[in-house]
Amino acid sequence: MSKFIIALDQGTTSSRAVLFDDKGNCLAIKQKEFTQIFPQQAWVEHCPKEIWESQVAVLHEILELTEVKSGEVLAMGITNQRETTVIWDRNTGEPIYNALVWQDKRTAPICEDLREQGLTDYCKENTGLVIDSYFSGTKIKWILDAVEGAREKAERGDLCFGTIDTWLLWNLTKGKAHATDYSNASRTLIYNIKDLQWDEKMLQALQIPKSVLPEVKDSASYFGVYETTDGAIPITAMIGDQQSALFGQACFEKGMAKNTYGTGCFLLMNTGDEIKKSPSGLLNTIAWGIDGKITYALEGSVFVAGAAIQWLRDGLQIIEDAKETESIAQNTEDKDVYVVPAFSGLGTPYWDMYSRGAVFGLTRDTGKDHIVKATLESLAYQSKDVLDAMQMDSGIQLKKLQVDGGACANDYLMQFQADILDVEIERPDLIESTAVGAAYLAAYAIGLWSMEDIKEKRKVDKVFSSVKQDIWRKAKSSRWDEAVKRTLNWVEQ
Ligand code: ADP
Repeated sequence: MSKFIIALDQGTTSSRAVLFDDKGNCLAIKQKEFTQIFPQQAWVEHCPKEIWESQVAVLHEILELTEVKSGEVLAMGITNQRETTVIWDRNTGEPIYNALVWQDKRTAPICEDLREQGLTDYCKENTGLVIDSYFSGTKIKWILDAVEGAREKAERGDLCFGTIDTWLLWNLTKGKAHATDYSNASRTLIYNIKDLQWDEKMLQALQIPKSVLPEVKDSASYFGVYETTDGAIPITAMIGDQQSALFGQACFEKGMAKNTYGTGCFLLMNTGDEIKKSPSGLLNTIAWGIDGKITYALEGSVFVAGAAIQWLRDGLQIIEDAKETESIAQNTEDKDVYVVPAFSGLGTPYWDMYSRGAVFGLTRDTGKDHIVKATLESLAYQSKDVLDAMQMDSGIQLKKLQVDGGACANDYLMQFQADILDVEIERPDLIESTAVGAAYLAAYAIGLWSMEDIKEKRKVDKVFSSVKQDIWRKAKSSRWDEAVKRTLNWVEQ
């Protein structure tokens, strides 16, 4: 009888189910978008029930499409958009409010309050995170304050909090399991990544009763079972999407890193059992817990990456499709034009919300193709800035960078990234690293594949190595640094 592994990949805009055979080959993908709710400026919500319904729908669609029976699925892993917060009634399973999405900024005043309480250093030291509305903690407080009677219900133990992994697990197991994994817990602002416990001080500061919290387990462990009419599927992995991509890229050893080129870029470096201090302002996060052992990571992000390519298409309207940028860049001479897409300020390592985008090096013969090329290159320069910070903070010199995400399909960009970093860029043939990671973990948990097996399963599509001299690299990098410098502190504070 054939055997299969399933990954549920619950993202910010769509829910996906991916079916793998027991050799690790990807057989089918099903995807369903769901509604983005914007009640006010800077508020972003999802309907938790729609998330659940879209996720379970694609799961059944993929089984029907491939005529696989639930009983033939050995294990299922869940990977998810991180930080997004749901609170529901333990007795009825009904959410008491919409999910507050990671992008939602309504809790900025609560963050300000935490800073005023002097918690900035404590928070970084113990949760690995900066105080920001991005993370779950302040969102929990907001919902408990906003919904009438919620806090009393919470005190009585009648409410559950969960990130999306937890919400899906609860529904898949019909309310039997209320659990999360270390990677998701480490994104909540209320989890102590040193002591591996919910953090009393942060809970107190945010007035969150302990009774709402899920149990925190290894990312590869038995979470529960999804019963269907033709068999039961064991749920044996849960992991946040970026950490899942790191696992899917087989970055198992300290110093290995991956970069996901999507709307933004997400860079994670495995730091082993060490929580590295980061003067550059990178986040410390838990990559995963496996066999009772925690692996940590440094995380940094670029706010505007693929989004800058969207700007070329939708804003400037000088390309029709993101893919065109590859041939345009390849066929356009280098004119030393630099585009700094600081549309909403700059993150790591500049941390300047007052900087704004700019184009440098314009001359009378600069054409639109030069702007396209320079915009594409800005993805590589910005990633370099984050990686330089990571290398400095970790004291680890990167040898190789694993890549994934939509824009890594662009050969010009990958070659330019290798040239500017002088590091080998390795692109896997399956760039769905997020789903791959959850499937690998789920299979590892049931003893189907070892870590060595997983390393062998990951197939490389292409390796890009630098073809440039150091003198070129230094010259280009210093012009980029200069360009960034001139965008800083642009808008009035
Ligand atoms: P997300 O998961 O953030 O939605 P994806 O991984 O699907 O992003 O990648 C899509 C992003 O990558 C878009 O912003 C798009 O503009 C950009 N992109 C996609 N293909 C290419 C390409 N060939 N070259 C450059 N950018 C691309």
